[in-house]
Amino acid sequence: MSVFDHIEFDEHEHVAFCHDKETGLKAIIAVHNSHLGPALGGCRMWPYASSEEALNDVLRLSKGMTYKAAMANLSQGGGKAVIIGDPRVHKTPEMMRAMGRFVESLSGKYISAEDSGMSVSDLKLMAEESTYISGTKASYHFAGEEADGNPAPSTAYGVFVGVKASVEYKFGTSLKGKKVAIQGLGHVGYRLAEHLHREGAELYVADIYPESLNRAKEQLNATIVSPQEILMLDVDVVAPCAMGATINRQSVETLKAKVIAGAANNQLATEDLGEVLRSKGVLYAPDYVINAGGIIDIYHQKMLSSNEALKTHLEKIGHTLREIYSRADEQKLATNVVANSLAEEKFRK
Ligand code: NAD
Repeated sequence: MSVFDHIEFDEHEHVAFCHDKETGLKAIIAVHNSHLGPALGGCRMWPYASSEEALNDVLRLSKGMTYKAAMANLSQGGGKAVIIGDPRVHKTPEMMRAMGRFVESLSGKYISAEDSGMSVSDLKLMAEESTYISGTKASYHFAGEEADGNPAPSTAYGVFVGVKASVEYKFGTSLKGKKVAIQGLGHVGYRLAEHLHREGAELYVADIYPESLNRAKEQLNATIVSPQEILMLDVDVVAPCAMGATINRQSVETLKAKVIAGAANNQLATEDLGEVLRSKGVLYAPDYVINAGGIIDIYHQKMLSSNEALKTHLEKIGHTLREIYSRADEQKLATNVVANSLAEEKFRK
């Protein structure tokens, strides 16, 4: 199949392929849309079974970045890069530098950040060869943490702002006393739990590893539940913060929470579930809107802005969600459908 006929092609502006014989680098960069600015998106390294699978992933992800950047009010477009290979086996410093040269060859059309299989130290190697790399800036984060360029603290703060706005919209109350179930206490989930605890929410948490669960129990007074139960608890909010597609036909049947608001990417197994949630009276915070804190952080690192500017921008996630929710109610449409059309209004105008 040619790239132009690919099911995920969807008017991509630029797709570039690179094979660097010396380092073994095989990579693809996709720029979906740069109407609002240069395409910003992470670089992923993954042991794809075929180049077709890698192409599929990069096209799908770069399109998603266009929607995410537009709804985060960034003057950026959407793009993504993938490297074919197992990061634990095939990655070398020379390969990372070769990837930097590949990014540089696009002359700023695409700006690269971190994604699965890549770390801040890999980005620093890429940055030796390219000025179009973001997410390497060590700073003292506004949340009081030392940050090495990884945007998880901002993602967590943005999700917290989003949960707060969703609860206010749905119940007309603050978070005090609200029951929130968090699926996944990783880089984002644990920090989200800390923010929610400070606001007086009652926490229920699940993970597949015990360490962070025990810490949450001791420090945040959280109740530990099993991964099988977490989505079906009788709580006010469910926050998926582990993997994608956890909101599926089966979990929707047993869901009791009236708000779904979390960090995970691609939470809905299929897009039509947005409508199923709406008909059940469940308020769903579209994932790429509520979890945009990471890309907002990367953008501000690139602009060398202040912590205050970053924080103010992250807080706008609440405003954007409120806009989506009121439009969805007015038009009797699912929130994911409304988010897509609002994003398209922005990047297609
Ligand atoms: P992470 O890998 O640090 O955390 C994920 C956690 O989920 C881990 O603790 C893992 O043990 C747990 N987990 C895995 N399977 C589980 C299961 N079945 N039940 C319960 N817990 C399970 O990842 P992260 O950086 O915290 O990101 C979380 C999600 O948010 C991911 O979907 C990621 O794509 C998305 N996201 C992250 C960022 C970011 O800045 N890190 C930005 C946007 C979106």
